[in-house]
Amino acid sequence: MTSLSYQTKPAPHGTANICLGCWDQMHIPIPIRGPLALPFRAFGITRSKMNPNICTICERSFRYVKKQRHIAADATILFADIRGFTVLAERMGVVELSEIVSIFHDRCAQAIWAHDGIVNKQMGDGLMAIFNFPIKIRDHSSAAIMAARDIQQRCAAALDSLEFDLDGLPGGALGVGIGIHTGEVEIGEFSSFRSDFTAIGGAVNLAARLESQAAAGEILVSAEAAAKAPVLVADTEVRRLSLKGIEQPVMAQVLIKM
Ligand SMILES: [Zn+2]
Repeated sequence: MTSLSYQTKPAPHGTANICLGCWDQMHIPIPIRGPLALPFRAFGITRSKMNPNICTICERSFRYVKKQRHIAADATILFADIRGFTVLAERMGVVELSEIVSIFHDRCAQAIWAHDGIVNKQMGDGLMAIFNFPIKIRDHSSAAIMAARDIQQRCAAALDSLEFDLDGLPGGALGVGIGIHTGEVEIGEFSSFRSDFTAIGGAVNLAARLESQAAAGEILVSAEAAAKAPVLVADTEVRRLSLKGIEQPVMAQVLIKM
């Protein structure tokens, strides 16, 4: 886990004064900015690192409020990681590597927050985002696809502006690969030692598998997610994939960074 300074940055998608997650899920206004937020802060309720427009009650997935350990939700899951990172790690110093990783996480978070998603997990050179929980999004497949395009653009621009030379890499392989799938997931706290929520289920696995097949600059969108965002995937390539652990071939739309 990389520790990043998300909290100090302003939210790109407006700055709500109440937690959008608590409002959407429970219609309870929890102040997260301004003077009304101060007494809440004294009780440890602050803005979440997953998205600065939600609060730490959301991170506990409303367990104490709803008295439910798990919540089933229709959601869109996005996985992204840095392609070519292993090769990069062999050729670069620790300082440059960590700079690339922090640029990646920072640009991804800005793009995901701009579309009301949350950065649920960060895993070294990769991350997992959830759309439609806890902030409700009417068209969450489209929100995730737009966030993915935004990630590709922001990361490409950032990589281009790096001071050091990436030319020695095979085939200019450095870039971001993304997988997106929409389906039902279980949301809750599934670990006895971590106190924040995540999503699990077949839909999460499929999104992760799609990401593992995405080349640098590609966004692989499952048929289920694509069906809910026809305009965004119009005229894109359909690819037939054999995915690890999934018996039948899976069809995905391939969006390529322009
Ligand atoms: Zn909240």
